[in-house]
Amino acid sequence: MEDYIPYGLHSIDERDIAEVLNVLRSKWITTGPKVQEFEKAISKYTGAKYTTVVNSGTSALDIAVKVFDIKTGSEVITTPFTFMATSNAILYNNLVPIFADIIKETRNIDPDAIRSRITKKTKAIIYVDYAGQPCDIKEIQEIADDHDLYLIEDACHAIGSEYEGKKIGTFADFTIFSFHPVKHITTGEGGAVTTNDPIFDEKLKILRNHGIDKDLHKRQSKADYAYDMKLLGRNYRLTDIQCALGISQLKKLDYFIDKRNMLTKSYSKILDNNDFIETPTVRPDIKHAWHLYTILLDERLNRDEFFQFMKNNNIGVNVHYIPIYHFSYYKTRFNFKIDDFPVTEEVFKRIITLPLHVGLNQTQIHYICNKIEEFLLNVVKK
Ligand SMILES: *Cc1c(COP(=O)(O)O)cnc(C)c1O
Repeated sequence: MEDYIPYGLHSIDERDIAEVLNVLRSKWITTGPKVQEFEKAISKYTGAKYTTVVNSGTSALDIAVKVFDIKTGSEVITTPFTFMATSNAILYNNLVPIFADIIKETRNIDPDAIRSRITKKTKAIIYVDYAGQPCDIKEIQEIADDHDLYLIEDACHAIGSEYEGKKIGTFADFTIFSFHPVKHITTGEGGAVTTNDPIFDEKLKILRNHGIDKDLHKRQSKADYAYDMKLLGRNYRLTDIQCALGISQLKKLDYFIDKRNMLTKSYSKILDNNDFIETPTVRPDIKHAWHLYTILLDERLNRDEFFQFMKNNNIGVNVHYIPIYHFSYYKTRFNFKIDDFPVTEEVFKRIITLPLHVGLNQTQIHYICNKIEEFLLNVVKK
């Protein structure tokens, strides 16, 4: 049998390691020059004016929501078909998450569902580019304009993706990235927020660092030691050690995306004609970054049996995601009606994530597809 094939895996080479060692031998291992260098590199790559790096994608979401300073109890619309960090960021800020159903083919939030969820209390929308495929951004922007809402794009799956020929990173007030090892590029843990708004950016940098405003002495000609605490910030800083890894990884991002794109083509070539499987749909107006390759199993199949069969064959399949309103914490605090999310429910019952990472090879893809075939033959025989 094949060695275990994980669903996601980082790709780190000797260049990355050398860059990290250089920082470890230097005078700055945190809050040093590599932080700004990484931020500049992300801004250049995405086309955004400003970038703030932080210690996780979750922290990035938290301070992005915090910048808006929205009144307690206001509502923020988001997708239930995401990692819980997306909607937890709403809760950290004492706001109420309102879920809107998704589109089956892309698993992205449905703009019509967003419209139906808007109330007087709605203040923002957080949309997630599921699996690396950008949402219907234009439509979401129109909704935000019509109702005067803030926009956050959770692009933790989608760094390097494009919408209408333009890189993700400047479409919303804030765009969020994650550098967890299963994502496209990694810093161990890490995240970033991009924006084109200088005032928002200044606030992000203050919130990342305890709420400290260090530029006070410059602006008010105070003594060098003087600083003010303006906002209730956090310590969400990313170290120079991690930033050095991130700078080195970012140089390979386009190659990583090309490789992922090629691997997904290999999957689809084998699975496209299978009557029991719906392979992923790619919209024509976008460039997919391919964080995940997810398929929908035919309704006649039992997803959990399929999952177990693959696991028994050392294949690291996964389910992205369990809808957030299924979690006990959310159920206890809020009254969600499952009937409000028919598409999310259907997709959740049928979806499987197949392994996808830069180190995956054709032999492994064929092994995985052969095992899928074997499972289907057994089911059909019964
Ligand atoms: C990974 C991820 C996050 C959180 O990122 P971390 O860096 O793990 O904190 C948030 N949202 C989505 C959609 C993600 O996939």
